[in-house]
Amino acid sequence: MTGELINYNSLGVSCTADELHVVTSEDELRELVVRASATGVPLTVLGGGTNVVLHKRLRGLVIVLALKGLSARPGKSEEIRLTAAAGEVWHHLVRYSLGRGWYGLENLALIPGTVGAAPIQNIGAYGVELAERFVSLRAMDRRDASVREFDRAGCRFGYRDSLFKEDENSQETSSEVDRYIILDVTLSLSLQAHPVLSYPDIQRELAHLGHTRATPTQVAEAVVRVRRRKLPDPASCGNVGSFFKNPLVDEVFARELRCREPDLHVRPAGKRIVKLSAAQLIDRCGFKGAQRGPVGVWQRQPLVFVNLGMATGEDFLTLAEEVQQAVLDRFEVSLQIEPRVLGES
Ligand SMILES: Cc1cc2nc3c(=O)[nH]c(=O)nc-3n(C[C@H](O)[C@H](O)[C@H](O)COP(=O)(O)OP(=O)(O)OC[C@H]3O[C@@H](n4cnc5c(N)ncnc54)[C@H](O)[C@@H]3O)c2cc1C
Repeated sequence: MTGELINYNSLGVSCTADELHVVTSEDELRELVVRASATGVPLTVLGGGTNVVLHKRLRGLVIVLALKGLSARPGKSEEIRLTAAAGEVWHHLVRYSLGRGWYGLENLALIPGTVGAAPIQNIGAYGVELAERFVSLRAMDRRDASVREFDRAGCRFGYRDSLFKEDENSQETSSEVDRYIILDVTLSLSLQAHPVLSYPDIQRELAHLGHTRATPTQVAEAVVRVRRRKLPDPASCGNVGSFFKNPLVDEVFARELRCREPDLHVRPAGKRIVKLSAAQLIDRCGFKGAQRGPVGVWQRQPLVFVNLGMATGEDFLTLAEEVQQAVLDRFEVSLQIEPRVLGES
């Protein structure tokens, strides 16, 4: 019953699961959760595997969540409430909603992975985060297989963070992390277009396409074009998108840093907190296009590490350590790894 996970993670690294199950129903999931809880066997959940770094072995049960289903109902005035099962592909959901004239997800087009994983790190891109469109989710408790609902406040979303994800800056107790398996997610979409065009890349792309008053579908098209240009397609070149989060730092520290490095990019990110560009810091340390054996730093976007062939999870983590040390030495900023590191070597 062991299973090879090389085709279940977008880095394309080899990993053996003690027991692999592709689960398509909540009943099947409940049975496995009850078994794991009764026997104390570890249980790992994967969606599309686009935000994980796998070591060579995953102990216990590994569940690839493939629950499918979409439903919609009218909300308040011009609102549509769209519920999608955890195993739906996120980008399909974006296309499905736009195709029906339900707007709000356009900036999140082409983010790989599943709907169920989207709340885990509160996916975001080009000025929009999942939390802004989120209504609620249903999740199964691994302790007793009961199902409960979380509203937005209950999920405690933050920058690439939530109740469900361990983050070194977050307040979450380790008992809550990994406790729930998300079954479905309900989003609030609008029949009215409210394009978010704050990112220069998207503005430039829309201008290039000749869209002066862009529709949501045109915004999604621009996002897809920009992403395709910047990011390697995991289908042909193993990667997990950004390997690090953009660091959040105190604005006083950022001001001091900018005295030394005047053209560092800084974006406001809350009260007295600013976000630095991890890509820029890595670039300044000279890693763009760097290669270390079977792993490399993507030439067009140094936040992305790529599998050049037969790389292991350990190869990626060794490169990550080197990059983290270089950024720490030069800028006194610690970079935090964005994907979840799972398993043992
Ligand atoms: C090319 C590329 C570009 C990317 N761009 C972006 C981007 O712009 N913005 C962004 O935010 N992310 C981005 N990502 C990261 C990734 O797409 C998202 O984090 C996505 O939500 C991961 O989905 P997944 O189904 O692949 O999750 P997985 O990688 O399978 O899992 C990620 C984590 O979530 C857990 N998990 C998965 N499903 C569930 C569930 N149903 N219930 C409970 N836990 C679960 C897993 O145990 C794991 O800890 C990018 C990745 C790639 C490869």
